[in-house]
Amino acid sequence: MILPGATLGVLGGGQLGRMFTLAAKIMGYQVVVLDPDPHSPAGQLADIHLKADYRDAVALIRMGGLCDAVTTEFENVPAQSLETLAKHCLVAPSAAALAVAQDRLQEKTHARDSGCVTAPFANIESAADLAAAWRQIGAPALLKTRRLGYDGKGQARVDSEVDLTAAFKELGEVPCLLEGFLPLESEVSVVLARNAMDEIAFFPLAENRHRDGILDISIVPARIPEELAETARDMAAHLARELDYVGVMAVEFFVLKDGRIVFNEMAPRPHNSGHYTLDATACDQFQQQVRALCGLPLGDPRLLSPVVMVNLLGAVWRPQPRWDALLRHPGVQLHLYGKAEARPGRKMGHYNCLAPSVEEALALALETRAELGIGVD
Ligand code: AMP
Repeated sequence: MILPGATLGVLGGGQLGRMFTLAAKIMGYQVVVLDPDPHSPAGQLADIHLKADYRDAVALIRMGGLCDAVTTEFENVPAQSLETLAKHCLVAPSAAALAVAQDRLQEKTHARDSGCVTAPFANIESAADLAAAWRQIGAPALLKTRRLGYDGKGQARVDSEVDLTAAFKELGEVPCLLEGFLPLESEVSVVLARNAMDEIAFFPLAENRHRDGILDISIVPARIPEELAETARDMAAHLARELDYVGVMAVEFFVLKDGRIVFNEMAPRPHNSGHYTLDATACDQFQQQVRALCGLPLGDPRLLSPVVMVNLLGAVWRPQPRWDALLRHPGVQLHLYGKAEARPGRKMGHYNCLAPSVEEALALALETRAELGIGVD
């Protein structure tokens, strides 16, 4: 067990690293952040901010020497960097678990092998694989790059083999997956923590709505039947155990129109759809990340209040949202990430709307969003 007073490190200084830093500081740890950006959200709060590239061996060795344990806030950390760090301190999740999450083919294959239901998928390494993939999947389908896709980027809907060929070119002829396009009723996610003693704690499922491919709001508890929530938790737990995963991870699922639940993807870190836990559960996802990393018993993930999380993207800065109007509502809890420059799709912060029922929380979220000029679908 790594006890308070020790030093923890995080690779990446974005908002997830910032909220990890805050949780660790509250629990009495020192924090080292590695991020090249001198103004990074987490670097602003850390005890030590190493401003270097994630591949910088000198910075990694320094970090490994300073820290008792290191985790990461993003999945695309070079495996080599984690291996360098692992020679000096505990590192979790492992390079192997991150490698699975970095590649949609490995991710979906692992998920299927550990008992998750997935959309039908076919691997496309090169143009030579297009015809066979089309025969296997057919219309309608989605072509997704295997690596580096996020927030709906790196994917295209295809309805014919001609579309597929054009989309593959458009995406740069990089390795892709062709996936069956499923009839979605809703999208949900489960955030869980697992420690090295194989203890697992689940946060309540979130029902997620996206806009332009980016998470817009999360409604908690998700309005789906309990048996479906149970199936989602079981699938997520199997996947975590199969990867011998240590840390916090999120698993996204589709709920289909026929009532089935299907694995979509995993994130090997706390997740935007888990930000509601900062105000609405006994222990939040970042405290849980600290506990899992340090080999401590996991905290209580129980929901204390229905909640709706609203993301604040840069487009609302014109030049600043009306904070006075928002904070007039006592059920609103605001979280800003300390980013100086507001760009349209950039995640600047979020707020949680707490209310006695999920319907009231959703009404408060929609009302405040409209007041901020976020717009309603
Ligand atoms: P992803 O990057 O895989 O999470 O996909 C981004 C969004 O595209 C998801 O949140 C869904 O709304 C939609 N999507 C992805 N895969 C499928 C699929 N197989 N069928 C239908 N919609 C999908």
